[in-house]
Amino acid sequence: MHIEIDQDRLNEEIEALAAFSDAEAPAVTRVVFSERDAEARGWLQELFGKYGLTLRVDAVGNTFARWSGSRPELPAVATGSHVDAIPYSGRYDGVVGVLGGLEAIRALQRIGFKPERSIELILFTAEEPTRFGIGCLGSRLLSGTLAASVDKTLRDDQGDTLQVVRQRAGFTGPLESLRLPADTYSAFVELHIEQGPILEREKIAIGIVTNIAAPASFRLFIEGEGGHAGGRLMPGRRDALCAASEIVLAVERNALATGAIDTVATVGICQVHPGAINSIPSRVELAVDLRDTDEKRRDGVLAQIKSACAEIAERRKVEVKLEMINADAPALSAPQILEALTAACEAENVSHRRMVSRAYHDSSFMARIAPVALVFIPCRDGVSHRPDEYAAPEDIGRGVKVLARTLAALSKAN
Ligand SMILES: [Zn+2]
Repeated sequence: MHIEIDQDRLNEEIEALAAFSDAEAPAVTRVVFSERDAEARGWLQELFGKYGLTLRVDAVGNTFARWSGSRPELPAVATGSHVDAIPYSGRYDGVVGVLGGLEAIRALQRIGFKPERSIELILFTAEEPTRFGIGCLGSRLLSGTLAASVDKTLRDDQGDTLQVVRQRAGFTGPLESLRLPADTYSAFVELHIEQGPILEREKIAIGIVTNIAAPASFRLFIEGEGGHAGGRLMPGRRDALCAASEIVLAVERNALATGAIDTVATVGICQVHPGAINSIPSRVELAVDLRDTDEKRRDGVLAQIKSACAEIAERRKVEVKLEMINADAPALSAPQILEALTAACEAENVSHRRMVSRAYHDSSFMARIAPVALVFIPCRDGVSHRPDEYAAPEDIGRGVKVLARTLAALSKAN
């Protein structure tokens, strides 16, 4: 089998998709269910249709483009990723897995390959948490990780529910219909940029991900007492931001304390009320992201952070409330897909290494209903979620070749 990639066309398509953006190039802003998102979806659907793929769109906008195999009754092999982009990000995150997945299918079609199992390309809705505060919305719903009741409870910052927003975007029907039976796919393989520096630094073409870290995130609401910055003297103050500051450092300290390189914790949001220079902060909201490849260790850090909050609250006489957003299990790649990927790298004569993903992806949730693996290609300086995010065409090409070969191998009925 000799696989050729149409690199020029793939580059043109990546560029064309990047133009569906609410930010000026090179930045990309494409928030789920926005007008730009609708335009990009329309363009993609037309593109998928050109190559004889059968389309299905579910009630939250997850899109399935199927290349029927000679044994369509068997569980299919799937690939795919997302195309929503956080504000002022780049053009490769997620996109490489969608357009690269399409090119992998086309490359197999060009050489006259006939799959036994169907091969399906999935475009997941809202991998980014931008609009509804929770990542991987589409794949969580597909895999039953998130209950259909979120339709009425998740809201965007305009106060509109998921139900209202998705229906306005043309995606109707009950969310209960989304969940896929566990035998829908025999394998799911996602191609993605690394979003980290390891492959580039080690000059390795392909990262075969063995496990994806267990993410957790939560909000902390710190309630103190406000007052005039001049009138209120220092003794007896219940400054919510001072308490929050101690909490931020406790988050860092407890993550470092595990001594494990895979424990990471970040306070990424701090909102101060009333936010005036001459007013003592009465209320602060923090949002914390905590991840680890080891779920127990992560939960241990979470417990430490909780007890630090309790201690700080007591000592500073403020109230601290914690609200979990999510606490997910880590995902393990399936050995048979790891083997297929390794064999594909060897057949294509590209360098590869096994690695861990600390970022989570739709694969994390597809792992609940199918054997999965995640494949990384290098990105420049490990940069992602920025306008200068970049993956070299030849690196994307190698990833697509490995993906095509892997999909071909996994599509055998055996
Ligand atoms: Zn992504």
